[in-house]
Amino acid sequence: MKKSTPRRQFLLQTGALLGAGLIANPFSSWAGPFQKSWTVGEIMDLFISQVPKAPFAQTVDTIKIGSREMVVTGIVTTMFPSIAIIKKAIELKANLIIPHEPTFYSGQDETDYLQNDPVFRGKYDLLAENKLTIWRNHDYVHRMQDDGVRVGVVEELGWQAYYTPGSPILQIPTTSLRSVIDHIKTRMKVPAMRFVGDLDQPCSKVLLLPGAVGGKTQITRIQEHRPDVLICGESNEWETPEYVKTAQELGMKLSMVEIGHSASEEGGSEFVKNWLETHVPGVPVYHIPSGNSLSVY
Ligand SMILES: [Zn+2]
Repeated sequence: MKKSTPRRQFLLQTGALLGAGLIANPFSSWAGPFQKSWTVGEIMDLFISQVPKAPFAQTVDTIKIGSREMVVTGIVTTMFPSIAIIKKAIELKANLIIPHEPTFYSGQDETDYLQNDPVFRGKYDLLAENKLTIWRNHDYVHRMQDDGVRVGVVEELGWQAYYTPGSPILQIPTTSLRSVIDHIKTRMKVPAMRFVGDLDQPCSKVLLLPGAVGGKTQITRIQEHRPDVLICGESNEWETPEYVKTAQELGMKLSMVEIGHSASEEGGSEFVKNWLETHVPGVPVYHIPSGNSLSVY
């Protein structure tokens, strides 16, 4: 965690000030003048300022509801702002939610066709009544110097030692596909996942593509790197799984594992939480995993 040092320093400095303040200053509100308040816009701009070639003219990372001017009382990071996440944010008095994925069920969060939809209204009105702001952070976190989502996912998997910054390839100690799946289940708290291949196949070269990068991109990366296993969030059943199945049928050593979209990138929300704690001092930040909407039976 290369970002942890500034945070530790900040905490240490804060602790030192606090210690000194408590001794030298009897007023419990001593920290007041030093506490900067943050607006949504300031937090957005700060994050965006450290992303190469940002801000982007075209991006899905817009405010979905609320405003740039709102003073932030607390932040929740997550994958999907479900009703459960919204209620939790209200309970925590966190008025800014930063999800990685859409709020209103499509890439661009189009809502024109949903205006009279009771499902949309239930969610939208809950957000509006409680004066919450939602800022999606998808494109910016992915396009940091090193993809913040991948960094967070590698940490969640405990695979930092096998990771080369900037690369989707990890060289893990040789193990079976079954063990790889068990490892992911444990680390990411996923009850089950779908896969293509032989559970006894040895795996060491892992191609890690969290989320849903698309079948063509997944297959292109397989061509480039010839991994033992592709680990992804999800894919269309008629694309990459069929390609990997064909490879299997031809006797090639290639398998794939689908974690599920939400769990596969949830490490990115932990990464964003850690980033905010380091760079936006004084604002409480919580990472709450939103989980998979699909259950396994
Ligand atoms: Zn993503």
